[in-house]
Amino acid sequence: MAEDEYIRPGTTPETLAKLRPAFADAGSVTAGNASGINDDAAAVVLMRTAEAARRRLRPLARIASWAQAGVDPAVMGTGPIPASQRAVAKAGWRLAELDLIEANEAFAAQAPAVNRELGLDAERVNVNGGAIALGHPIGASGARILVTLLHEMARRRQGLGHALHRRGHGHRTVHRGSISIMARLALVTGGTRGIGAAIATALRDAGHRVAVTYAHNEDAAARFRAASGVPAYRWDVADYATCVAGVGAVVAEHGPVDILINNAGITRDSTLHRMTPKIWGEVIATNLTSCFNMCRCVIETMRVQRFGRIVNIGSINGQAGQYGQVNYAAAKSGIHGFNKALALEGASHGITVNAIAPGYVDTDMVAAVPQRVLDKIIATVPVGRLGQPAEIARGVVFLVAEDAAFITGATLSINGGQHMY
Ligand code: NDP
Repeated sequence: MAEDEYIRPGTTPETLAKLRPAFADAGSVTAGNASGINDDAAAVVLMRTAEAARRRLRPLARIASWAQAGVDPAVMGTGPIPASQRAVAKAGWRLAELDLIEANEAFAAQAPAVNRELGLDAERVNVNGGAIALGHPIGASGARILVTLLHEMARRRQGLGHALHRRGHGHRTVHRGSISIMARLALVTGGTRGIGAAIATALRDAGHRVAVTYAHNEDAAARFRAASGVPAYRWDVADYATCVAGVGAVVAEHGPVDILINNAGITRDSTLHRMTPKIWGEVIATNLTSCFNMCRCVIETMRVQRFGRIVNIGSINGQAGQYGQVNYAAAKSGIHGFNKALALEGASHGITVNAIAPGYVDTDMVAAVPQRVLDKIIATVPVGRLGQPAEIARGVVFLVAEDAAFITGATLSINGGQHMY
């Protein structure tokens, strides 16, 4: 379109003020402050997640909720207010959290009224112009504002959007529909430092909504929160009861977990003849039992919504073994059996379960390895260096994609060629 259809050259405030009111004799709505009726078209293809995966389609977004409401025709422009309140509450969100809002504005007075009543910040509403600027393609407006919203969310890599529009009207009431759209929610354990922080950042940059967990290190968590804007929750993934409470808090605040990355892990190295039951138990609980704890908390919802992506972070040392690490190697190796069984259970429910087995990566965990030992290890890495956390995160983004539905029960080794099989 080279030119807006509704530009009236020569329009002045005086000529606008002379226009006849459209409804009430003393009313303020005129052709000059109402949306123009345009020729336009828009289409949205809607389907279940499982069908999109079967057709190898990558959805732009997921409908989190919808609602409609009726209001007195005398105040028909206010219809989006109760409809939006219902839809947003059904999704478990708050209006203040929305990144972008597309609202079909029939009349100029409607936009500030709806914004004021819903407490919406005008900077987030109709960022590319509303119907008064762009026109109102009667019959296609619902799809048009939705398409505008989806593309703007993708362009800005934002997660929560809301579209509100008129749906139809009767004699006594006017119904307005309202749809809330959100990106997938990813939960990354041990996401405040090292590989987990890189995974969380990469998932956020890929357009997902993200929350992370940590165990003790408040300083690292505060730094990560400030740098990334990603919420961080503190709980011990080795303890089932705290996982139930922690996941419950995340779900209450952000909605169901669609993507789970079990990344939290520790090492407590010792040869077996010196290893205590305590450090054996700590490593098994934090690296392996945590996978049960966390998966158990999200799996039922994933089954119901027929979508889930689980990635458990293993290790090259779970594949190849390592001197002084029977506890760690057993825990990481256990992940592979765990994953294969859960991949079988999840396959018919749209849930994929995969592992990444990193080689030696430049994080605090590896910084604890004495330099002379590290030098010997690096000498065995064909690529000739440690990996970077972002290089592991890259694999996670790949495995959790909507169109990765056929990849399940797999282990992706990312180790610079150090161990291949
Ligand atoms: P880091 O030690 O740098 O970070 C570990 C993260 O896990 C921190 O956020 C930590 O929280 C959290 N964490 C530890 N224990 C718990 C717990 N009980 N409950 C909740 N959170 C916990 O680790 P890396 O980034 O190096 O490693 C990440 C994963 O990758 C681990 O599973 C590790 O085994 C695996 N891996 C790492 C390799 C490497 O070379 N770095 C190689 C192969 C695998 P807090 O900050 O509070 O302590």
